Amino acid sequence: PPNHGRNALSFKELQDILIETPKEEKAQEWSKYYTSGPHLAGKNYSQVLWTQERWTEFGIQADITAYDIYINYPLGHRLALYEKNKTKNASESSSLWNVKFEASLEEDVLEEDPTTGLENRIPTFHGYSASGNVTAPYVYVNYGTYQDFEDLIKANISLEGKIAVAKYGGIFRGLKIKRAEELGMVGAVLFTDPGDDGGVTEENGVELYPDGPGRNPSSVQRGSAQFLSVAPGDPTTPGYPSKPGVPREPVEGKIPSIPSIPISYVDAIPILSALNGHGPSPKDFNKYWQKNLGLKYKGVDYNIGPSPDSLVLNLVNEQEYVTTPLWNVIGVINGTLTDEVIVIGNHRDAWIAGGAGDPNSGSAALNEVIRSFGVALAKGWKPLRTIVFASWDGEEYGLIGSTEWVEEYLPWLSGSNVAYVNVDVATVGPSFKASASPLLNKLIYEVTSLVQSPNQTIPGQTVGDLWDGQISTMGSGSDFTAFQDFAGIPSIDLGFGPDPSAPGDTGAAVYQYHSNYDSYHWMNTYGDPGFHYHATVARIWALFTARLAEAPVIPLNASDYATALEGYISQAESKLDSAISGTSTEEEDMEARSRPTVLESKGDLKALKLSFKKLYKAASKFKHAAHHQDAFAAECAEKAGEDIPWWKWFSKILNTKYKYLERQFLYQPGLDSRSWFKHVIFAPGLWTGYAGAVFPGLVEAIEAKEYDNAQNDTLKNRQQRDSYRLEFTTLFVSMTGPTK
Ligand code: GLU
Ligand code: CA
Ligand code: ZN
Ligand code: ZN
Repeated sequence: PPNHGRNALSFKELQDILIETPKEEKAQEWSKYYTSGPHLAGKNYSQVLWTQERWTEFGIQADITAYDIYINYPLGHRLALYEKNKTKNASESSSLWNVKFEASLEEDVLEEDPTTGLENRIPTFHGYSASGNVTAPYVYVNYGTYQDFEDLIKANISLEGKIAVAKYGGIFRGLKIKRAEELGMVGAVLFTDPGDDGGVTEENGVELYPDGPGRNPSSVQRGSAQFLSVAPGDPTTPGYPSKPGVPREPVEGKIPSIPSIPISYVDAIPILSALNGHGPSPKDFNKYWQKNLGLKYKGVDYNIGPSPDSLVLNLVNEQEYVTTPLWNVIGVINGTLTDEVIVIGNHRDAWIAGGAGDPNSGSAALNEVIRSFGVALAKGWKPLRTIVFASWDGEEYGLIGSTEWVEEYLPWLSGSNVAYVNVDVATVGPSFKASASPLLNKLIYEVTSLVQSPNQTIPGQTVGDLWDGQISTMGSGSDFTAFQDFAGIPSIDLGFGPDPSAPGDTGAAVYQYHSNYDSYHWMNTYGDPGFHYHATVARIWALFTARLAEAPVIPLNASDYATALEGYISQAESKLDSAISGTSTEEEDMEARSRPTVLESKGDLKALKLSFKKLYKAASKFKHAAHHQDAFAAECAEKAGEDIPWWKWFSKILNTKYKYLERQFLYQPGLDSRSWFKHVIFAPGLWTGYAGAVFPGLVEAIEAKEYDNAQNDTLKNRQQRDSYRLEFTTLFVSMTGPTK
């Protein structure tokens, strides 16, 4: 598009700058800086100032926004396995127990990797975990999903008063602890199984770090234990910003009350193998218990237990809870339009001294994006829309910096924010990944086809050429959550992950997630030697932002939303169908296994099916209106070059409609049982956390069997509510729209 005399660069010239400016060596320099020492949430002020200084140097005005947040830091921990002495005449009760094994709870210091041996390195612990000292028999609970616990209950395994030992993987870790707590368990130990978290063992031929990229055996996955699907952010200030002096709510129901710790598989082996022969084996359970048993090569039979009363775990977790500041760095380039704003962001805080993958590959890329926009500014460019850059703090504990910021600036964001573009992990592998509001689908296809892939086995191939084109629905687990689910701002999360065809079963394969080994040395040696993927993310991110900021007609696509909605409705309906027929969730992904869906009484199913018809009908009306709007937008975009007031006026109307479209899906009272979440189409799965649920209200009503009782017609009410939202959105789209 031409520049209407408002700036010195054509879009093509801007695009060239944004593709040519990001540099591998620069990204490497930023990566090295951020990963050279601990930078936990609320303990990274030198990096805050450094970031602000760099951005200012690049020519972007940057401020610091601080919040006082409730947070924990580790003081101490212990995990020991005790066995009762078999000699009968031990005189004192204390001498009856022997320490059979004491976990090191430490990661190995590697000579090759300097940040693994820092004196001030961060201990292994869980964010928002409860302090406690418990001694009890223990049960192996598989992944600790809702359904895993249901399986245990069905098999009459006693859980109350026991400690849960769960594998990492599948769902968000805090929800494993949540369910254990609800079932009366007294503690939780989460371990990395090489069969999935890390995905690689010597047995499948991948070398382990430092000899290769695979997860080091002593590596521990730290991470937040917050009940993410209830609400992210500071747990004492749900829905409002944690400014100094604000009233604080109790944390019950938002973070665990039972102690938990994460351990390595080296530490897990003696604990699990002590269960050999006790209780059922995975073979006595369904297939979900028989997958990825990576420690069977190490003498672990994965018996469920419980351990006999003569074999107990002592779990000690000591955390200090404080209310202390954390800091976002917020940069701005003012556009010609100040009521149309693009926000892009990445978190800065990490669980460890390193964080070369999570999150500082993203931080390095963000600096390159900002430096590139700075180059354009220096050449006289001024964006049409305002661009805001964010370096978030406290993501790891619970998306805190971004959530508090969205809560603080909600009125302004609601009125002006067109889209939010998140990069958390920019790269830990070669496979492009994206999750997005469907409004942004088209734009990410377009932009990835403009950027060369670092993989040039076929010369000239782009990121888009090598991408499978799959775009996931928005779940949670990163800083887009408050934008998408609380404020109704269309969001996207993008980056390069591990190659799914590499050994291992989950996205964490060949990666040192949340461990000391997610370090600069790992990144430079195995993750992204040469930093080509870092620079590539910077190019994609910058171009994507530039298209959003510069296109005269906002490049969101309503038709893609309509198509997606039809799919979501049929997903919800098939949940109901399988509940009615009682068929299990056989083909359902293990990771998505949540609540059981077996219907007890068939109730008024006809009415339910009918109200699904109503939803389909609303969606099809929306589709019609969306097609109209997109077609007219395409026409306007073409005419935008002609500088005719008439078309400019239409563009302004269209831009308002695109800007507010996603907002129409907000339902202000919020979802039942978790009112912070306002979006009726997307929410993190109640029992998955990371994976998104679509039409969460409907799906949860089906899963909770709230559909067959005249007194409790939750499902019908929610269908009513959701089709009303859809009809309202349709009205919004068609109301001001031109009719042809
Ligand atoms: N990325 C963080 C994690 O997965 C998010 C923590 C949270 O959402 O509470 O641990
Ligand atoms: Ca808050
Ligand atoms: Zn992250
Ligand atoms: Zn993380």
